[in-house]
Order: sequence, then structure tokens, then C-alpha cells
Amino acid sequence: MKKSASSTVYFASVGVARPEGSATLPAKLERMLAQFDLKHLCQGKAVPIKMHLGGNLGYSTIHPLLVRMVVNAVKASGGKPFVVEAGFGTVAAAADRGYTTETLGCPIVAAGGPYDTYVVEREIGFKQLDKARIYGTIWDAPCLINLSHVKGHGDCGYGGACKNIAMGCVDGPTRTKIHALEGGIDWNKAACVFCGRCVKACDTNAITLDKKEKNLKIFFHHCRYCRHCVAACPTKALTMRDRSGFRDFQEGMALVTKNVLGSFAPGRVLHLNVLTQITMFCDCWGITTPSLVPDIGIMGSLDMVALESACLDAIKAENLIPGTMIGKRKLAKGKHLFEQIHGKDPWVQVQALETHGLGSQRYAIKEVG
Ligand code: SF4
Ligand code: SF4
Repeated sequence: MKKSASSTVYFASVGVARPEGSATLPAKLERMLAQFDLKHLCQGKAVPIKMHLGGNLGYSTIHPLLVRMVVNAVKASGGKPFVVEAGFGTVAAAADRGYTTETLGCPIVAAGGPYDTYVVEREIGFKQLDKARIYGTIWDAPCLINLSHVKGHGDCGYGGACKNIAMGCVDGPTRTKIHALEGGIDWNKAACVFCGRCVKACDTNAITLDKKEKNLKIFFHHCRYCRHCVAACPTKALTMRDRSGFRDFQEGMALVTKNVLGSFAPGRVLHLNVLTQITMFCDCWGITTPSLVPDIGIMGSLDMVALESACLDAIKAENLIPGTMIGKRKLAKGKHLFEQIHGKDPWVQVQALETHGLGSQRYAIKEVG
């Protein structure tokens, strides 16, 4: 079988060779952006910069100065930038985390309008995910800068460029449908004696048992598919139907990403992944936990799959900083650090993206000095 050509992934390291501004990450980002044909991408157009602006007490989203560097580059190329985010409430509270028109140098808008209703419906046809309602502001755009913060993610192991598109460019009900794809453990209420042994056996607190209401719920975001609950159950009320119950979530994200990106002409989407403050959970949790690994830098590519592959390769299990996981969590088995933390193989997402024709896992790094 013929191997696909490798895609270029530009890399700006967080490392500093000399104690001067030109040797630091924002300056390197500026030089990285100069590697892309931004005039072709942006000139004369309103250019959305899709971000996740976080919430509540989170302080590990992308630093406003780095956003400003992107905004300035778009302006210098003749574009009219604006930052776009899902949800009017998130946009309204963005100033809490330092994101304002003044700090970023451009407006911040809600992708679905003030009522989250400006959407375009697309057929997906994957299990419960029958349709996706894509934000109209993204759908209408002639080009896009996908500016993502890289971190772990409880539902799929890893959150980066794909997650910023799949979960951040669709409305709330579509996000709920994607989450509904999670599963893999079945509970037989009739067989349950509500003894609570499964709850005690679960070291990630994924199971909630309501003895009064006679109900049991599994929060698959926290589930690592370890089977401890299944083994502890004295009545076989729990069964592991699918050890890979997280795969459908990732497949759903890839399919939605394909539909969102399908609205752009080739070469009109630039993906930038910021690998700083790489925490355990997604920024939507509204909290910041310690960085799992030392900061790495910023990577950028026109090929999302190559970019995600390069980012995952750069996050190495051996670089885990002791004491940075929440509570008493310990690493489980897994090929990647995020799989060892969340029990979900993050490469499933990348493979699904490649299968759906969104790019190549083969990449060549070009470091920007
Ligand atoms: S499989 Fe493991 S992590 Fe998931 S609910 Fe059961 S005990 Fe908890
Ligand atoms: S261990 Fe089994 S019987 Fe006991 S509460 Fe859990 S599911 Fe029900």
C-alpha cells in the first residue's frame, strides 16, 4: 500500500536560548505564523479565530498575549480577525480570564448568536448522533484559524484541535448527543441489590448509587474501564459490554469535525495547538489543576491529523510531573500518558480523523528558531 506523504508541522519550543524577548514563545509564534501564507488565507476577509475561552476559576487557557500575536498576524495579512467561541455566556464571562476586545485587539463573538440558535443542520447518521447543528458563524466563514489549548480529556483521553472543532462548533444539544455515544457498561436494575460494593471498588468515583431512588449511574468521563466494579458485584448486575465504549465518542467527534471542516475550501483552515499548562481535564471544567508535564510550546499545521499526532507524540509518559494528578489517582496501563490517566486511547481519535480523510498521521517537524 502506498504511504501518504508527510505533512509539515511547525514547532515553536517554549525553551529560551537567550534572555531576550525575541527568543521566547510569543516571538517564535510570530515567526511561525510567517511560515504560512496568511495573505491567501485571510486577505480582505473576516477571519474567525475559534477558541475555547474556559470558565469559572480556570486559568490555564491560552494566554491573551499569544492570542494577540495571532490577531496581529491576521491584521498584518489584510484580514479582519474576531475570536469566536461557543455559548453567549462563555463569551460574556471571558473578561474574567483576561479576554477582552482591548487585550486581544479584536471582537469576541458567540458562534451561535445570543440565543445559541444560529445553526446549520447536517446529517451525520452515526447511532444517536443523527444530525449535527453547526454554528452558522463558522459555517458562513470563508476561512478559519483553529486555535486550541492542548490538555487531557476524560471522555476521549485528549483534547486538542479536533475537540475544539467537534465540540466547540456545534450547539448544546449536539454536544449532548456526542456525549450520549459514551457507554460500554450495562446495569441490570432487576439484579441489583444496592449493596454499594461497585461504588467502593471504583477508584475514580465514576459510579453514583442512589439507594433511596433505586438508581445507579456511571459517569463515563471518569470511567477507566478497569472492570473493578464488574468484578465486585455479587449479583452480576453490571456487565462490561464493550471495553472500548469510549470509541464511539471519538468516532462521533471525527464525523462532526469532517462536516464542519467540509464547509471550507482546501487550505483555508490553519490549526494551531498550544501545549502549555497541559492539565488532566478539559478547560470546560472551569478549573485548573497542575500541569501534568513541562510546557512544550506551540505547534501549527494545515493538516489537523498531522498536528494532533505530533502533539500526542510530544506528550510523553516519562515526563509526568509527580503529584500533578487529581486526588489519589494512579496511572493505569496504556500506551499513552492520557490513556494511563483516563483509560481511553487518544490515538483512536486521530485514527478516526485520518480514516475520514482529514489528513495524515505522517508528519515532519520544522522547528522555528
Ligand atoms: S470500570 Fe472501573 S472506572 Fe469504570 S466504573 Fe467500573 S470501577 Fe469505575
Ligand atoms: S455491586 Fe452490583 S448489586 Fe451492588 S450496588 Fe453495585 S451493581 Fe448493585
